[in-house]
Amino acid sequence: MHPQMRLLDRLQQLDDELDQLRQLLKRLDPGEHLRQRLNESRQRLEEIKQRYRELQAAAHDQQLQLQSAEERIRHAEAELYSGRIRNPRELEALQHDIDAMRRAHDQMELELLRLWEEMETQGQQIQETEADLRQIEVMFEQHQQRYQAQKARLEAEIEKREAMRAQLVAQIEPALVQRYETMRPRLARKAVARVENEACAACRTKLTPYLVNRLKESHDPVTCESCGRMLYWAALDPPETTPTP
Ligand SMILES: [Zn+2]
Repeated sequence: MHPQMRLLDRLQQLDDELDQLRQLLKRLDPGEHLRQRLNESRQRLEEIKQRYRELQAAAHDQQLQLQSAEERIRHAEAELYSGRIRNPRELEALQHDIDAMRRAHDQMELELLRLWEEMETQGQQIQETEADLRQIEVMFEQHQQRYQAQKARLEAEIEKREAMRAQLVAQIEPALVQRYETMRPRLARKAVARVENEACAACRTKLTPYLVNRLKESHDPVTCESCGRMLYWAALDPPETTPTP
């Protein structure tokens, strides 16, 4: 067995951990659905507020029109009772005009009431939407804090392992690292298989006496005859072979 298989096995452990951490980092939810809800709620609030401002302007106009209608009626009534008009036909015509103006005035008053009612409804909707928005803002803020904390924690874990990995790689023969790097993606991210009970722990194939012998005698990497992974047999490793970094 190659004398650096222990280090290569350790490298693979680190790479497994890095794979897992990177997966977790990728699966973290950055809260896009909440951001979208937040945007929708803000847009809705803006639309309702716009509608409210339009109603306000319409009600204001209506009030001005109503005031001028009231003035015209007062003026016509003053004319009617002034005694200046004596002709009964003229008087009748004026009374007729006043009646028409009163009807128009009543219509305007109804329309103003309708506008006020709608303003009240829109005002309630503004309050409800604002409350809804505040709730989503709090949820989004909490989610962001959680997400940033988890992200920072995972990134720190990854950084730590990457430094350990670089240290480890510097201790291993480049050709062996190269072989490991080439094999790992092709073998379900396991280029090194441990030997347990004289069998390959990855594919469970029993080692032949020939392989057992080669592992004991040779200093080359020995691969499993069934799955092709480089074999690491901890029992063959002298306890003090790990070089100090
Ligand atoms: Zn195998």
